[in-house]
Amino acid sequence: MRVELLCTGDELVTGLITDTNSAWLEARLFDLGVKVERVTLVGDVRPDITQALLEAASRADVVVVSGGLGPTSDDFTLECAAAAAGVPLEEDARVLGWLRERYAARGAPINPSALRMARIPRGAEPVRNPEGSAPLVALTLGRCRLFFLPGVPREFRALSDGVVLPRIQAELASRPGRVFRSFRLLRTVGIPESELDLAVAPLAPLHPRVVFGFRTHAPENHLKLMAEALSQGEADAALAGAEADSRRVLGARVFGADSEEYVPVLLGLLRRAGATLATAESCTGGLIAQRITEIAGASDVFVGGAVVYAEKMKSAWVGVPPEVLARHSAVSAQTALAMAEGVRAACGATYGLSVTGYAGPGGGTPEDPVGTVYCGLAAPGLPTRVDRLSLSGDRGRVRLFAASHSLEMLRQHLLTVAARS
Ligand code: ATP
Repeated sequence: MRVELLCTGDELVTGLITDTNSAWLEARLFDLGVKVERVTLVGDVRPDITQALLEAASRADVVVVSGGLGPTSDDFTLECAAAAAGVPLEEDARVLGWLRERYAARGAPINPSALRMARIPRGAEPVRNPEGSAPLVALTLGRCRLFFLPGVPREFRALSDGVVLPRIQAELASRPGRVFRSFRLLRTVGIPESELDLAVAPLAPLHPRVVFGFRTHAPENHLKLMAEALSQGEADAALAGAEADSRRVLGARVFGADSEEYVPVLLGLLRRAGATLATAESCTGGLIAQRITEIAGASDVFVGGAVVYAEKMKSAWVGVPPEVLARHSAVSAQTALAMAEGVRAACGATYGLSVTGYAGPGGGTPEDPVGTVYCGLAAPGLPTRVDRLSLSGDRGRVRLFAASHSLEMLRQHLLTVAARS
């Protein structure tokens, strides 16, 4: 099935907003096994929209159009659709009824300009919009089905999920020679995309029914497996084989699958271990604590975190001895070690994590240039571990990867503990 997307609006071609509707729908369609063939962006110019509609409809089985359905004078996508189909715009009694109900519910008289939204191309099918006023409108041009959706992302997504995607799915299911698909997203951390590619490259020939795809979502890299076969059972079996081999090759660097997020996985490991965590951060300025506290309910395992940016706070709050700072500097393995042990003791937590480094762009020393970060992990009954990282990139990237590495030191440790018990 050939699917194209067409987004209208001057704001999309003048750099005012980014077309996120397409990216979102592309991902949804890909999960159904449909790769979007083409995405077109057109400004608010009537002849251009009409021509773009005709061209897309001549190539595709389905075209999803976003934007220009509202009540304002720059909303004329349906006018262009009518021109492309060679039919007039007509007031639709169903849409008029929905608009009246919507306004009545708000206790407001219907706004005359809102009545424009009830005018749809003759023969088109309107579908009520649960999130807004402008309805979805479906229209057939030749052998192509077009779906016109409001551009507002919340409305676009609700109508895509509620109407467009189920219809595409039903159409796919009814086609002869239907291909069945099965998907798995393996989420990794701590392995660059090129290494991930190299690691799984030998597996591709062993699994000819599976497509291996890669997605970077810094600091994570994801491996997307898609199996295709003539029955669901075969697709599932092909996927299971590729997934098992990929997991074997990637080991503990896979932290989760599909929609599993990193921090909830880590919190789950802490809970299972009956353990708690405290953090002492310098160059990451609370990024680790922020990531953890983004997850509701983290307080049962996350005791607290200190941002100890100035040297005196490293001593005052997490007990780094002034002589350690004087002799080794604030960015050193010795300071990271003392910070991790100090925050663990100060908070009475099972684990202490620490980060200190040069995030740049200034600072650094010949031995420890910008990008050098020390991460510490203080754990019960073990010598405190300190990793030295040499990170590249700007300040944001150094901080992001430093926080990620720190959390990953803890996750790997907890996996080892879990394997022993
Ligand atoms: P409205 O009732 O708001 O006029 P509409 O269907 O006419 O809805 P537009 O006016 O084209 O839609 O867009 C409304 C808003 O939705 C835009 O200002 C923009 O913020 C957002 N939007 C439009 N198109 C996109 C897109 N492709 N990706 C992301 N956001 C979009």
